[in-house]
Amino acid sequence: MNIISHRVNHLSESETLAMTRMSRELKAKGHDVINLSIGQPDFYTPEYIKQAAKRAIDENYSFYSPVSGFKELIEAIQLKFKRDNNLDFRADQIVVSAGAKHSIANTILSLVNPGEEVIIPTPYWLTYREVIKLVDGVPVYVKGTLENDFKITPEQVEAAITEKSKVFIFSSPCNPTGSVYTKEELEAIAKVIAKHDHLFVISDEIYEHIIFSGKHQSIAQFDFIKDQVIVINGLSKGFAMTGWRLGYIGAPVIIAKACHKLQGQVTSGVCSIAQQAAIKALQTDPAQSQDLKKMVLAFRERRDLVIELLKDIPELITNVPQGAFYVFPDAKSLYGKTDGTTVINNSEDLCNYILQKVFVALVPGSAFGDPNCIRISYAASTASLKDALHRIKNAISDLY
Ligand code: PLP
Repeated sequence: MNIISHRVNHLSESETLAMTRMSRELKAKGHDVINLSIGQPDFYTPEYIKQAAKRAIDENYSFYSPVSGFKELIEAIQLKFKRDNNLDFRADQIVVSAGAKHSIANTILSLVNPGEEVIIPTPYWLTYREVIKLVDGVPVYVKGTLENDFKITPEQVEAAITEKSKVFIFSSPCNPTGSVYTKEELEAIAKVIAKHDHLFVISDEIYEHIIFSGKHQSIAQFDFIKDQVIVINGLSKGFAMTGWRLGYIGAPVIIAKACHKLQGQVTSGVCSIAQQAAIKALQTDPAQSQDLKKMVLAFRERRDLVIELLKDIPELITNVPQGAFYVFPDAKSLYGKTDGTTVINNSEDLCNYILQKVFVALVPGSAFGDPNCIRISYAASTASLKDALHRIKNAISDLY
């Protein structure tokens, strides 16, 4: 008999974390590793948010908090949804969790029975696939292509829907492609989904504030679909607060209640100090936040730099990401090539080769459901990015 349940046995180790571990090992051996496998802003949490947390400690916010979050935090989230997204959520539609990842897991656990299908556009954030596996759901992949900026079409969604479809899950801005859906594109997909009232949308908007042109759009904005949408958001990316662990949902009441019940048995309310800091963060209008402006400007400049440097490596073909902090170039023309010692057969081989040869850590596209690509995070200094892209170019030029 297996000691570990089949549920956990079948989970994969996060490939991003595996890459980070390998680069740490090489660093420990004294190699000068540039880690571009990272999924978090290389910025500090803004001062006013840190102050709120310090105050919360002094004011003895040291007790259990309500499972779904402090009343003041729920109000700040309602304010945020209205101000930033023009969405109206009642207090009982909101549940605060320990990060957007936790919110996604709560929602999938609450919605998906074994054998029910979850439609996922590829490339996708890898956690979606694993949590669906955890509940014995069936992932149904819909392929986004480089030619279409890695976005899927309403026709593709329609073709993927069966009577077993329960959830459609996606992120915009997208990790790993940086693609951003426009209002018109979302409306067209929403119209397809609205025809199937057994189908729910999990709209992962964690990169909402890291966007380089136009304004973030939520699929929940269309009245004809809003009762089918669970909006996922959190503080990790836009406020440089990955370690604070705070995410939340705005959802139909029945789903929010289910998440509340589940969380009440598994984790209870989120860290009370992080919640107090989150109140401050969300009360602040992002349009007025100098910290956010600075961070987004830095990401935009780095995006432009990486796109420019990639022009010198014609084997890596990319879209121009409009948000988040990743580029996801297609590298398949390199498959089958060798440097005389190592043969590159796929995205894992290529990332391993680049890591071992020139000490740059990337993540294979296979982790995100697109084995033709590799993910480069530009959450790093411009000096590191220049150095890394130069090294990648050299490593690739040795392949024939
Ligand atoms: N959703 C996407 C698309 C992400 O890329 C990430 C983190 O990398 C998350 C959710 C998780 O965010 P959090 O830190 O709030 O759990």
